[in-house]
Amino acid sequence: MKKLVYRFCQGRTDGSAKMKDILGGKGANLAEMTRLGMPVPPGFTIATTVCVYYMKHHRLPPGLKTQVSNGIAFLEKATGKKFGDPEKPLLLSVRSGARASMPGMMDTVLNLGLNDITVEGLARLTKNRRFALDAYRRLLEMFGDVVLKTGRENFEAIIHREQGTAPMPMDEETLSRVITAFKLVIRQSTGADFPQDPYEQLWRAIIAVLESWNNPRAQEYRKLYSIPDDWGTAVNIQAMVFGNASEDSATGVAFTRDPATGEKKVYGEYLTNAQGEDIVAGIRTPLPVSSLAQTQPRIYQQLTKLLNRLERHYRDMMDVEWTLEKGKLWILQCRSGKRTPTAAVKIAVDMAKERLISRQDAILRIEPETVGVLLHKTIVPGVKYQAVAKGIAASPGAAAGEIVLSASRARELAEQGKEVILVRHQTSADDVAGMAKAEGILTSAGGTTSHAAVVARGMGKPAVVGCGALQIDYEKGTVRIDSHELKEGDIITIDGSTGAVIIGTVPMQQPQLSEEFNTLLSWADKMSRLRVRANADTPEDAARARQFGAQGIGLCRTEHMFFAPDRVGVMQEMILAADALGRKQALDRLLPMQREDFVRIFRVMDGFPVTIRTLDPPLHEFLPKDPARIAQLADRLGIAVEQIQEKIRLLEEQNPMLGFRGCRLGIIHPEITAMQARAIFEAASQVKGEGCRVHPEIMIPLVSDAEELARQRRLIEETAAQVFAETGLPVEFSVGTMIEVPRAALLAQEIARVADFFSFGTNDLTQLTFAFSRDDYGKFFNEYQRLNIMKENPFDTLDQKGVGTLLKIAVQNGRKANPRLKVGICGEHGGDPATIQFCHKIGLDYVSCSPFRVPVARLVAAQSAISKGSKLPRSGSV
Ligand code: ADP
Ligand code: MG
Ligand code: MG
Repeated sequence: MKKLVYRFCQGRTDGSAKMKDILGGKGANLAEMTRLGMPVPPGFTIATTVCVYYMKHHRLPPGLKTQVSNGIAFLEKATGKKFGDPEKPLLLSVRSGARASMPGMMDTVLNLGLNDITVEGLARLTKNRRFALDAYRRLLEMFGDVVLKTGRENFEAIIHREQGTAPMPMDEETLSRVITAFKLVIRQSTGADFPQDPYEQLWRAIIAVLESWNNPRAQEYRKLYSIPDDWGTAVNIQAMVFGNASEDSATGVAFTRDPATGEKKVYGEYLTNAQGEDIVAGIRTPLPVSSLAQTQPRIYQQLTKLLNRLERHYRDMMDVEWTLEKGKLWILQCRSGKRTPTAAVKIAVDMAKERLISRQDAILRIEPETVGVLLHKTIVPGVKYQAVAKGIAASPGAAAGEIVLSASRARELAEQGKEVILVRHQTSADDVAGMAKAEGILTSAGGTTSHAAVVARGMGKPAVVGCGALQIDYEKGTVRIDSHELKEGDIITIDGSTGAVIIGTVPMQQPQLSEEFNTLLSWADKMSRLRVRANADTPEDAARARQFGAQGIGLCRTEHMFFAPDRVGVMQEMILAADALGRKQALDRLLPMQREDFVRIFRVMDGFPVTIRTLDPPLHEFLPKDPARIAQLADRLGIAVEQIQEKIRLLEEQNPMLGFRGCRLGIIHPEITAMQARAIFEAASQVKGEGCRVHPEIMIPLVSDAEELARQRRLIEETAAQVFAETGLPVEFSVGTMIEVPRAALLAQEIARVADFFSFGTNDLTQLTFAFSRDDYGKFFNEYQRLNIMKENPFDTLDQKGVGTLLKIAVQNGRKANPRLKVGICGEHGGDPATIQFCHKIGLDYVSCSPFRVPVARLVAAQSAISKGSKLPRSGSV
């Protein structure tokens, strides 16, 4: 018979951490910890294959009944108790657990096996009737919600009625009343009584857990983190231990390092006299684990030791669920801990320094998708502001936005392009999709391991939780903080690093790279073959690029320099000039402006290569469109309005992107290229004279034929000779081309003979290869994705199959003709992890991307070199 059930119990364990596919993460780690001799309550795991079978056939596979019965018998022997026994009842938990951790997404039922009779047995056995009744009411509530789908509201209303607003442990009498009321809720909403037969409870719970794999929130979570729908969940059945057995019992969560900052210290929180689900739900605000050091030092020490042992064993920061039952410590779960990107980097670097992992491992552990948020905004230091309230700082970074009080509203507004802060009493698994759309999360309840905190950290979103001063009224749509009454739509700022809540906005600053991240990236640079450059048009961009570790500028677009308000006028004069002489006069005035820009960029880049692209856009882009502006221009230049309109008509094109632009401009108007080359070389000479190293690379756009490049190259070389003769300070330079027209890629061999370098302009190349207009493809593309004609947007991530083939051809043929040809990419794709990996594979020399993506690119360049073609780490692969 096929093995469907795997046991874990001291001395007898079938599974291990390596068996996540079959046992799910929770089951595999329960087995592993048991193997390590840790105090884990005994249990067994139903394999994920059962869930897969159930999804397909809508019934349980043959043999499962017997194997589960044997499993129960085994647990009865191990614990000395009996399932359903009136005197010594064995109680069980039935827990979901998939391959990838999906916290809170699927269901768990605790205290199974209790009924009207066994509850009295438990009371006698523990000599604590209050506790037994509390366990029973929890079972009724969870079973009702998870298995019988009664919802939680009716149960919560009953508790609220009994307890009022101060949640105190209920006494026996109250609990009896609550239990009676709960049973009534179940009968009324399902038409049947709560099943008293423990085996019926068990099987119905197992099926509910299997079905929870396909509940809407689990499906949504899988979509968000790219977890396959066909993995299925395992079901863990485990003997119960009780954190709610007495005042010296407790239940808690602990991380081996701080999941928000990465600091090496035991971190977490607990509730006394409580069961696990109380913590996640954020009902009471828990105590920090560190306070256990004072109240129960022996237990604290024991816990710390276990945590250290787990971390060394798994070589990772671990998230551990523990329960203390009358002085005995139990471990109920461990998994690789979710952490903020900031913490991920610090932990990886620290562990490499501690020699727990290698530097390569440290680099491979960082998920490229998460690095973007490392560049979190923060409140400008020193700025004075008034915090109206302070909560627990749960996930770092500052965020501002409109208050929204529901996850669905957050999604709605975010989709309209609004920035929102999701404000809730607490969050639950249903809110995850809305949280993903918010700038930040603020809750009035819960601690650092509440749902809101854990999920926000996983997403790298700022969060403040447990902010008790908030009084939220969902119905009225208001939030009261002391005397301030705010409503949905009002702007607030939260600081997830300090816990501050501020009305309105506060000046924020762009992020800086942390010391650890710099260290990690410096290791990365040593391991990667691909260099990383930045696209930078201004000295400010260039400075930022250097700060983020760019090793050169891969694209400096000179037209941006001409759009500046003080320059566009001269540019317009040049365009409107009647003849070459008039053009020359205008260009002469542009020259010093352009030279000054280059001087400043060269200084910043200090010897790193700077690739400067000659004028690219069609000239009509520089002329005004509306009549008032045209009249103004005519007035300024002292020419007739009609003359300008005539010129505009002349420049008008049906397909400007396929028109008179790129190198075509410089070939028809050589004086433009000559001026630009002169500005570059004069600047280079000047900077060299200042003692700086400088290496300009001049790049000709939109080339489709070798002759175009050859002509521009001759012009540039002549200009260089003239300038250097004048300055007496010759500078080394190179001339190359963008490869952004399919014909250029196909004729790379010819073009490479007159080029020192190629740089793939993948925006135009994608546009021209697909014949998708970048400005208009939105009209049909969403539908294309929905119809599964195309999965990915080829403007975001390079189409490796089509456009990528052109790249490969160009690299191979180009290098054949010119072995010293340098090849890079400068389209938007240069910052996309999958594209970078592809560029590494086909042998490019560098990628160039916007300055903010430089850190990610450096990381991925190294990961590509280390992992040699295997898949890069992905979000959700915890
Ligand atoms: P999740 O995957 O949502 O964390 P779990 O299966 O871990 O769900 O269970 C939810 C809560 O129930 C946890 O806090 C856990 O500690 C508690 N729990 C689960 N099994 C047991 C058990 N055998 N004894 C005591 N508490 C348990
Ligand atoms: Mg858990
Ligand atoms: Mg282009």
